[in-house]
Amino acid sequence: MKTVPFSKAHVEALAKRYPTPFYIYDETAIRATARKLIDAFSWNPGFKEYFAVKATPNPAILSLLKEVGCGTDCSALMELVLSENVGIVGENIMFTSNDTAAEEFVKAKELGAIINLDDIRHIEYLEKHAGLPKLLSFRYNPGEGREGNAIIGKPTEAKYGLTKKQIIEAYKIAKQKGVERFGLHTMVISNELESEYFIETAQMIFELAHEIREKAGVELEFINLGGGLGIPYRLEQEAVDLKKISDGVRDLYEKAVSGGTMPPLKLMMECGRYITGPHGYLVSTVRHIKETYKKYVGLDACMANLMRPAMYGAYHHITVLGKEDAPNNHVYDVVGSLCENNDKFAIDRELPEMEPDDIVVFHDAGAHGHAMGFNYNGKLRSAEFLMSPNGEFKMIRRAETSDDYFATLKF
Ligand SMILES: *Cc1c(COP(=O)(O)O)cnc(C)c1O
Repeated sequence: MKTVPFSKAHVEALAKRYPTPFYIYDETAIRATARKLIDAFSWNPGFKEYFAVKATPNPAILSLLKEVGCGTDCSALMELVLSENVGIVGENIMFTSNDTAAEEFVKAKELGAIINLDDIRHIEYLEKHAGLPKLLSFRYNPGEGREGNAIIGKPTEAKYGLTKKQIIEAYKIAKQKGVERFGLHTMVISNELESEYFIETAQMIFELAHEIREKAGVELEFINLGGGLGIPYRLEQEAVDLKKISDGVRDLYEKAVSGGTMPPLKLMMECGRYITGPHGYLVSTVRHIKETYKKYVGLDACMANLMRPAMYGAYHHITVLGKEDAPNNHVYDVVGSLCENNDKFAIDRELPEMEPDDIVVFHDAGAHGHAMGFNYNGKLRSAEFLMSPNGEFKMIRRAETSDDYFATLKF
């Protein structure tokens, strides 16, 4: 069962001043989840979680994660600027980009971020545009070297990272060009709930670390295991077993560095979804009920507020406030108002009997929710609120207005 940390009365009071749709994030829960991840890996001195900014790019969220001890994982110029604005700079930023612009490398270098290169050719490109930093990391793509995992997709089809041959060469080149400190990164999994996949990835990357050491003669300072920890969007799914992942990685880590064959390494992660996903809610009001060949619940939110269902067929659980205990004995498509027939939050969803003005809450919308918003069909982006530990709702982003919409237009 999924519960909502605020009541119908809370939302009604808020909606009187700020019309729905809007997002609410649960500060207490975000802090607790970030701490849980950091604690799980506290056996590794130097472990750091770099929160993937793209998941929830709001400075208020980044600030509270900074207080818990997180850095940021950025992949674009504005994500670097967001980090800078909340005082996350230097090696508290991991810059894991791809198809990177020169100005982005310049900014990352200026902030002293850890630069994690996606391609062997980027060594020269970075050198030319920003100069090479003393610390450099590379992103590994295992290609055929990673087997037996349907969920990760085929690494050979992924645009990210360097091949095995390239990455060894890349460390040699970087070293020869005067780079002194080195890191290694991989991320081949997304929204994964099975612990085994993370442990297998760790095994692969520790083996690679040894190979890099032998063949390129460089000492790695850290290994970044990437993000990709999944969350249980569906009621029947179970949360990832952090302890199991941590124990599994620890075993492999200790073997990898045992007997002093390899100096201690700092481990890092770049989770986004896991930290904020479960603790963000999209709140929307029912406008119309429609009955034709199917029954429709028409909301004041649309795919422009939360595009995951339309984009990936993703499931987001729905709670109808005040009807939590009513039987789910009606079947509806829950839709928005875009002139696109895939603007559906849910298809054939069993819900209580719905009526106009019901307030629906979409669960697990905290990551890649508001962040993926867009202005198609003239839709304006919604407000975001942070529910603080004392139960107050703090506005951390106002809703867009028509002035915002017209701000970039010239006529
Ligand atoms: C998206 C992304 C992440 C975060 O992924 P989650 O699934 O949200 O944990 C981390 N690193 C990189 C490079 C990414 O592109």
